[in-house]
Amino acid sequence: MYNTPVTSLDTLKLTDKRREIVEIMGFNSVEEILEHYPSRYEINYLNKKEEFIKGARVTFKGKVLGPCKYINAGYKKSVVRFKCIDQYGDELNCTVFNRPWAYQQIKDGHDIIVIGIVDGTNRINVVNYYVDKDLRDVLGIKPIYPVKADVTQTMIRSLIKSVRIKLHGQIVDELPPSLIKEHRLISREEALNYIHEPKTIDEYKLALSRLKYEEFLNFYLALYMRQVPISSKKAKVFALDKINELIKRLPFDLTKDQLAVIKEILIDLKSDKLMMRLVQGDVGSGKTVVAVIALYANYLAGYQGAMMAPTEILAKQHYAAIKDLLAPLGIRVDLLSSSSKNRKFLIERLQSGDIDIIIGTHALFSDDVKMDKLGLVITDEQHRFGVNQRKRLLAKGEDVDFLLMSATPIPRTLAAAIYGDMAISSIYTMPSGRKGCDTIVIYQNKIDLIEDEIKKILREGRQVYIIASAIDKSEVDGMVDAISLYEKLKRVFAPFETGLLHGRLTNIQKDQIMNDFAENKIKVLVTTTVVEVGVNVPNATCMVVYNAERFGLSQLHQLRGRIQRSHYKGRFFLLCDDPGDDVKARLDVLANTNDGFKIAEEDLKLRGPGDLLGTRQSGLPSFVLGDLMSDRIFIDAAQKDARTILADPRRAEYQRIVLKAQKNISDSLG
Ligand code: ADP
Ligand code: MG
Repeated sequence: MYNTPVTSLDTLKLTDKRREIVEIMGFNSVEEILEHYPSRYEINYLNKKEEFIKGARVTFKGKVLGPCKYINAGYKKSVVRFKCIDQYGDELNCTVFNRPWAYQQIKDGHDIIVIGIVDGTNRINVVNYYVDKDLRDVLGIKPIYPVKADVTQTMIRSLIKSVRIKLHGQIVDELPPSLIKEHRLISREEALNYIHEPKTIDEYKLALSRLKYEEFLNFYLALYMRQVPISSKKAKVFALDKINELIKRLPFDLTKDQLAVIKEILIDLKSDKLMMRLVQGDVGSGKTVVAVIALYANYLAGYQGAMMAPTEILAKQHYAAIKDLLAPLGIRVDLLSSSSKNRKFLIERLQSGDIDIIIGTHALFSDDVKMDKLGLVITDEQHRFGVNQRKRLLAKGEDVDFLLMSATPIPRTLAAAIYGDMAISSIYTMPSGRKGCDTIVIYQNKIDLIEDEIKKILREGRQVYIIASAIDKSEVDGMVDAISLYEKLKRVFAPFETGLLHGRLTNIQKDQIMNDFAENKIKVLVTTTVVEVGVNVPNATCMVVYNAERFGLSQLHQLRGRIQRSHYKGRFFLLCDDPGDDVKARLDVLANTNDGFKIAEEDLKLRGPGDLLGTRQSGLPSFVLGDLMSDRIFIDAAQKDARTILADPRRAEYQRIVLKAQKNISDSLG
């Protein structure tokens, strides 16, 4: 995706048969065919007799002995059996499952090469067989490609090979010759040949180095070119003692990390460079109060501030919290969301400077929202906002400092890779007095085992969240859905009041239910992940997640944060039916640590950065070959080289790759 310009498929003059394969596979350009890399390789060589151990995958050649037998084993099931003498003179009984045509192909006296699994003494389950084929065609390193529908390995191999042959000598190398030389890379054409058809492991490794480096270089070029340049602004002037007074008035002592982050932000505000800072800290680590102090400093300097949240519920909570702290100081705080009835009036007051701090959802992006003197924008849960939205917001003022808040901690290596030059502040410690949370995994997707325990929690006066991954039955097969669950649990937990919250309710309905839950009128809240972000109901100390296998680790960790907001120890129940080993391993990570940074790192290892960040929203490419976590060497080189190139982008040998990066940017920004 990040490697080459787009060449139309018409240039290939494909046969109808091949066109069909191209269509099924969804290839749109020549490059997409060439960059359809094998997902793995099979290495076949003739095995020694001592390697024929039960369970081993072996390759041997032999002669078919007698006719084969066909057994019909029911609908679409069949078994073909034949005997053969292998190259060591042993008689082997071979079985081919569900390939009835084998009966036509394998005949007495044929030379045959078999790849199969040893199933017992002289018994082989055939994986693949080749009748009357040259050994050289079968042995060696074979690419195995991801395929769709009825496309076979043979079909895709021959398609890709024919394209490579057709383009021989015409594959453009975009890497500057000086870099190819410096890193001792092979040419693009060689790399493509080697990745698709390596004759040795070394050839494969050479190909991988070249292609990975190129992917990263293209990525960093585009990333650096896209970055909003750090521009100048008027330095903000404010009195520190006022800020200290506010800190003293807080109902708690700030943690060491909170204080450190606040200090970093205040330095940024005072500087004459625009602030671009990411504050990351686990759910409940106390980011809101950091935002409040930043907004206060910005206000003292004579500027308006805006804070954006991804959901209406969250915007309202921020509004309430911020108003609580700042309204007593005479600061005019208001809320603008898509359901604001007084929208027109609010916009007028923003423009005339009669509102000091505005809290809102994406409604703040609208073009008709103009500010009198905007000086600071804070976005909460930033990864849900795209680069473009960010730019539009910044355009609403001249000295707009920018602060991102994220509760999805990103391991430092990755953060540097994604955010490039952005400054990063981290809150690692939680406010003291928190009791934390027990995480219990239950291997059935039913509440029965924990029903009594939950009733006990309810009798103690605490509240409970129940999370379902689907809203109603129609959504996904086999998922427990919120609506049916609500119907059931309302009876189970009666007389305790149960409520239902999901994304398809109107905003008014959602607010009503959220308020009733916050005011402890609703005791059990059955909901989807609408509650994931930021919602603050300290008295809710228990959460049950159905179909826990459907969620990412970081997402579950976020959910868990909802029930760790008080002095009571939380109870976090994860329900799932019959999980495989990988699901078990993932849920164990969660049960064993409460450290969001560690969890993010695991998530990254297990599911890749796309899942962690939501590739679409973050603009982060899914690398085809490269791996942000393990390819440190390539990343470092690519970052350095991208900067070298951008320092002198007009240099002749950089032209091709710079143009390419520009094109990538315009494509990705739409
Ligand atoms: P998040 O980082 O998830 O946005 P919040 O800012 O919502 O966390 O803080 C969670 C809760 O912790 C809030 O109720 C807040 O008032 C409280 N809190 C924040 N900082 C401290 C602190 N230093 N000591 C005690 N409680 C705190
Ligand atoms: Mg928050």
